[in-house]
Amino acid sequence: MEISEIQVDGYEKVVRCRDGDTDLHAIIAVHDTTLGPSLGGMRMLPYVSEDEALFDVLRLSRGMTYKSAVAETGLGGGKSVVIGDPQTMKSPELFRAMGRFIDSLDGTYITAEDMNIGIEDLNHVRETTRWVTGLSRESGSSGNPSPYTARGCQQGMRAVLEEVHGSDSFGGRRVLIQGVGAVGGRLAVLLKEAGAEVIICDINEARVAELQGQYGFEAIDDEVHHGLECDIYAPCARGAGINDETIPKLKCRAVAGCANNQLLEFRHSEELKKAGILYAPDYVINAGGIINVSVELLEGGYREDVALQRIDRIYNNLKQVFQIAREEDITTREAAARLAERRLEQGRKTKDQG
Ligand code: NAD
Repeated sequence: MEISEIQVDGYEKVVRCRDGDTDLHAIIAVHDTTLGPSLGGMRMLPYVSEDEALFDVLRLSRGMTYKSAVAETGLGGGKSVVIGDPQTMKSPELFRAMGRFIDSLDGTYITAEDMNIGIEDLNHVRETTRWVTGLSRESGSSGNPSPYTARGCQQGMRAVLEEVHGSDSFGGRRVLIQGVGAVGGRLAVLLKEAGAEVIICDINEARVAELQGQYGFEAIDDEVHHGLECDIYAPCARGAGINDETIPKLKCRAVAGCANNQLLEFRHSEELKKAGILYAPDYVINAGGIINVSVELLEGGYREDVALQRIDRIYNNLKQVFQIAREEDITTREAAARLAERRLEQGRKTKDQG
C-alpha cells in the first residue's frame, strides 16, 4: 500500500492511493473542512489517465463544499475516484484496500455511494474503516437517499412558485418532469398529491407505462418535451440538458429539478435569466440526499424526523438564493455560490475565534 500527497492550491489534502495486491489506483480529495469533516461519494470510472481522474475529483470535491455549505449539513467537501473498469476490476479486497486509505485520513474524509459504487461495495469499505455513510437502513444507516432528494426538491419548488407566482401552492400548477427514475418518479407522486398537474417524460417506456398505470400521469415524448408550456420544468434524468439548443425551446417559467450539473456551461444560467426563466441551482435543490446522510453522523445516529426537518430548509435556502440574485442583479447560480462563500467565511471566523 502506498499513499502519496499531490499538492493542489486551494485544497486541504489530495492523495494518490496505490495498492499493488489489488491493482487499486485511486485519488481522494479533501477540498475544505471549515464547516466539518469532508463528505462526498466514491465513484469508479475507467478514466484514461490519472490527470483526467484528478480533474474530476478536484471539481467534484469543490462542488461538495459548496453544496454542503448551502445545505448547512455541518460538513465540508470531499470526493474519491477509483480509476478502473467497474465491470471487471471490482473485488472485495480492492474495496477493503480503499477503506484502509480512507481510514488513514482520520475521519477528515467520509465516503458514500456515487457513480458505479453500490452499497455492496461500501459494505467492503466499511470492513476496514468506519468513515462510510449511506449504508442500508437495517444496518442503522440512512439508506436509499432518493425519496429524500425528491422531498427536498418538492420543498425547493415551493420557493420557486412563490418567486414566480407569489404563492407556494401547487394547486393547478403544471410541472413537467424529465426522467422519472428513483428521484423523479417519487417527485411526480409527491407533486400530484400536493395538487399539481404532472406531466412525465422518460426514454424508458416501461417506466412511463408503469407510472401512468398507477397514477394516471399524462406523458410526453422526450423528443418534443422541451416545448411544453408549464410552470416548472424539472430535469431529473442526466446532466447538461440546459444548453444552447434547448433554452430557446423552453416554454416554462422556471427550471427546477434534481439532476446534477443541469447547465452545460455556467453561462447557460445567464441565458435562462435573459429568457425570463428562473433557475433553481441544482446543487441547492437536490441536497435532500446529502442532508439525509449527514444526519447519520449525529451523535446517537440517524433519525428520520430530524432529517425531514433539515431537508425542508431547502425551501429557505432557495428563498435566500433568489433574494441575493434579485438584490445584486446576478444569476441564481452566482447567488448560490455567494451564499456558500458567505457561510464558509462565517465558519472560518468562528473557527478563528474558537
Ligand atoms: P435513475 O437512474 O433512477 O433515474 C433516471 C431516469 O432518467 C431513468 O428513468 C432514465 O430512463 C431516465 N432518462 C435517462 N436519460 C433520459 C433522457 N435523455 N430523457 C428522458 N429520460 C431519461 O437516477 P436518479 O437516482 O433518479 O437520479 C436522477 C438525477 O438526479 C441524476 O442526475 C442524479 O445524479 C441526480 N441526483 C440524484 C440523487 C439521489 O438521491 N438519487 C441525489 C442528487 C442528485
